[in-house]
Amino acid sequence: MVKIFIDPGHGGSDPGAVGNGLKEKDLVLTISRHIRDMLLAEYKGVSVKMSRDSDVYPTFAERANMANNWGADYFCSIHINAAGGTGFETFIHNSRSTKSVAYQNVMHSAILAEMDVRDRGKKDANFAVLRLTKMPAILTENLFIDNTHDAKLLKDAAFLKKVARGHVEGFAKAFKLKGGTSKPDSSKLKGGDSVIRAIQEFINSYGFEIKADGIAGPETMRGLIMVLQTELNKQFAAGLQVDGILGPKTEAAFVNVRVGARGNLTKVLQALLYINGYDVGTIDGIFGNKTEKAVRSFQKGKGLSVDGVAGRNTWRALL
Ligand SMILES: [Zn+2]
Repeated sequence: MVKIFIDPGHGGSDPGAVGNGLKEKDLVLTISRHIRDMLLAEYKGVSVKMSRDSDVYPTFAERANMANNWGADYFCSIHINAAGGTGFETFIHNSRSTKSVAYQNVMHSAILAEMDVRDRGKKDANFAVLRLTKMPAILTENLFIDNTHDAKLLKDAAFLKKVARGHVEGFAKAFKLKGGTSKPDSSKLKGGDSVIRAIQEFINSYGFEIKADGIAGPETMRGLIMVLQTELNKQFAAGLQVDGILGPKTEAAFVNVRVGARGNLTKVLQALLYINGYDVGTIDGIFGNKTEKAVRSFQKGKGLSVDGVAGRNTWRALL
């Protein structure tokens, strides 16, 4: 059993860095929970502990002791940067143990590959949690909360999942974790932003005009509903108003989409799975095994009946 200890920085009375209406303590907890959930859902032979799973503040010594007493194999502290800069960087302790250096190399490139932001480099420092932990340890600084461009990404729920995904990929590589039920093919998802942008361009190919900014916000979701409504009208004469609002009439018009399906309904399904953090490979409108696997993982995660068919309940949960 590989024991991964996740330390969401700050918490409680210590908000960490703040800026653009965001607090570091909230963002790092969200990212850490995603990491834990992905690792436990997708890999075998791994256990995860977190220094906090709510808005509380353990001291540096308490965080380190929790990991030491548990006998963690790896300690990973998650942070958001501030004060003039942009991009991603990682730290290990300045004693630079062989293992810490090796794991930092793997983690750093895995996370960067998912985030597609400026690489500020692999660094070392005498940070308390890195000094007090007895196992190899890393601290990741994921973008700058007080930078407008970075904050925009940090406000995007899909981007936070990508940050988590990068960490998970890193752990899987560094510790040769087995499993991977919905593990993305990072070569295809590389530069996740561009995937969202492609989804937005697909929406706009219908003549809608949403901003193709690579961020999956409410406008993108509205756009996907409009595409759905258009397709349901075209293919099934559903007679829906194309307004991007998920009302009872639209919900009633949902059709089952399953393995073997091809076309833009499947493409919308794949886009929604991707935005919800599930790997579908290429968003190509072809409902193959990979898409079915993603539907099953999604249904399982949402407590729906797991049949791999996108029916009314699945559509509703995706939207
Ligand atoms: Zn911090």
